[in-house]
Formats: sequence, C-alpha cells, structure tokens
Amino acid sequence: MGRVTVIDGAAVAAALRQRVAGVAARLRDEIGTAPGLATVLVGDDPASQVYVRAKGRACAGSEIGAFDIRLPSDISEAGLAAEIEKLNLDDRVDGVLVQLPLPRQIDPHRIQGRIDPAKDVDGFHPVNVGRLWSGLPTMVPCTPQGCLRLLRTVHRDLTGLDAVVLGRSNIVGKPLAALLIGADCTVAVIHSKTRDAREISRRADILIAAAGRPGMVNADWVKPGVTVIDVGISPTAAPEGRSRVVGDVDFASVSAVAGAITPVPGGVGPMTIACLLLNTLLAACRRRGLPDPTF
Ligand code: NAP
Repeated sequence: MGRVTVIDGAAVAAALRQRVAGVAARLRDEIGTAPGLATVLVGDDPASQVYVRAKGRACAGSEIGAFDIRLPSDISEAGLAAEIEKLNLDDRVDGVLVQLPLPRQIDPHRIQGRIDPAKDVDGFHPVNVGRLWSGLPTMVPCTPQGCLRLLRTVHRDLTGLDAVVLGRSNIVGKPLAALLIGADCTVAVIHSKTRDAREISRRADILIAAAGRPGMVNADWVKPGVTVIDVGISPTAAPEGRSRVVGDVDFASVSAVAGAITPVPGGVGPMTIACLLLNTLLAACRRRGLPDPTF
C-alpha cells in the first residue's frame, strides 16, 4: 500500500466556517440582523456545558448571533416546551438546538418534535428525518453531514461504493445510512445484534465507525485501501491525570492498511460544529425565502 491520507477535519472545518462567516456577514448587511442560533441547556451536565460553550464560541467567530438559554435540571417537559415555543416565535432566532441528554423527566423525542422544523438545525425533527429519507431538501444532521463532506474530500464520486456504517443511532448511524444511499452507495449498517460484523466491515470501500467503542476497529476489520471515518469520541485517562479522547478505530494499525483515515481528535468533531453553523445560515436564508447558498 502507498502512504495513507490523513483527512484533516480541522482544516476542512475551518475553511467551511470561513465561507459560512462570509455569507452570514453579507446576509447581515442585507437584512440588518445576523443569523441567530439558540442553544438550550437543561441542567449542569459538565460535558454538555463544554459542548454548548464550544458552539457559542464558534458562533462568535462566524458572524452568527448566539442565544445561550440555561434552564434548571428540574424543569418540567411542559416548561421546556414553553421555552422552545418562545424561540420558535422569536424572529432573531433562526436555529434552535436542545443539548442532549435531557433530564429523565423529559422525553427527548417529544421535545425535538416541539422545535419548528424550519429552525431545527440538528435535523432531528420527524418532519426533517422523513424529508432526509425521502431525498428532499432538509436540515441534514450535523455529524453525518460532516462525515459526508470529509468523504467527498477523498471521493469526488461515491457511486456504487460499498459503504458500511458501524452504529444505528438516530443521531449518527441512521442519518448517515440515508445520506450514503442518497449518494448512490450500497450501504450496510452494523449494530450490536449483527452477526459477522467484522466480515461485513471487511467488504467496505468506505467504513464509518460510530459505535462509541474505543479501538473496536483494527486492521483485521478493513480491506486495503478503504476510506475510514472515525466518529467515535471516548474519553480516556492520559498521563498526569489529564484526559484525552480516542475514537472507535485503532489508528496505528488501520492507517497501515487504509487509503484514507480521519484522526481523533481533529477529524469529524470540528466538522460537526462547522455544519451546525452552516445549518443555521441555511435556516436563516430559507426562512426569508432566499436561495440556499452553495457550499
Ligand atoms: P449510541 O447512541 O450509543 O449508538 C451506538 C451504536 O453503536 C448503536 O447502534 C449500537 O448498537 C452500536 N454498537 C455499540 N457497540 C457495538 C458493538 N460492539 N458491535 C456492533 N455495534 C455496536 O452512540 P452515538 O450517539 O451514535 O455516538 C457514537 C459515537 O460517536 C460516540 O463515541 C459518540 O461520542 C460519538 N459522536 C461523535 C460526534 C462528533 O461530533 N464527532 C457526534 C456524535 C457522536 P445497538 O443499536 O444495537 O445498541
């Protein structure tokens, strides 16, 4: 095998964010207000706080207004729904994102369904999920969208490629499968009940790992030349009491066999936030009847 291509997600994401910032600034000059993203954080889960802060910082660097809504962990589902309704009606807000997980007393599916589909920048509302599977214009969930954008840096045309998705969550695995079918791949989805997962994985031209199992995919799971996108993020202890994140893919062994691979960190993670900013910009354009900017 030749040398593996390490897909630089941080660089692809930075370029996308810069382009989003340029269009968002033009839109602000034309309509008088910047596109706006509201993040709703219920409770004080430390990881969720980190994610919400990162999203706020990203908005600041991309000409997108940030609305940071913090709610107590004991809020009722009706109380949260009422807060969402306020954001649905607020014309300064183009995108509404409810940070998951939610406290136990709140049903996340019912809450996702309360967000105006036109402001559903996560793409989790059933209407947007249905539109994705129907091949209609929609809000494409951020992480799967980021994966597809990274794949396209390696494969201009995905037609007919065998794609294997490891994981079937509503957030990553299922929407990825829909996107890859839409891109004319032949798609297999592996989950915890799959028999012979490794054999199925070895057939892949494209392997996207989103199981949340550190190092699960090793060189035995891939065929030479495969393109590997590692969505997994698992915190692990590092020397000096510090923590670091690792992916689902054993980078050292797989990169010796693969044609292209994303690192963790610096692969899919930065793309997720860039795609969130892009979805907010798209929502702002669509709500005003403007054509989608092309990216
Ligand atoms: P999830 O809801 O826990 O789903 C994991 C999926 O993997 C499930 O479908 C599960 O199968 C499957 N799975 C788990 N262990 C397996 C095994 N041993 N063999 C076969 N399949 C297995 O997780 P998620 O939300 O999709 O996230 C997946 C990973 O991506 C996590 O590490 C998460 O932190 C990361 N993530 C990263 C980003 C990013 O921006 N980079 C964004 C979102 C998520 P069953 O359905 O049968 O249980």
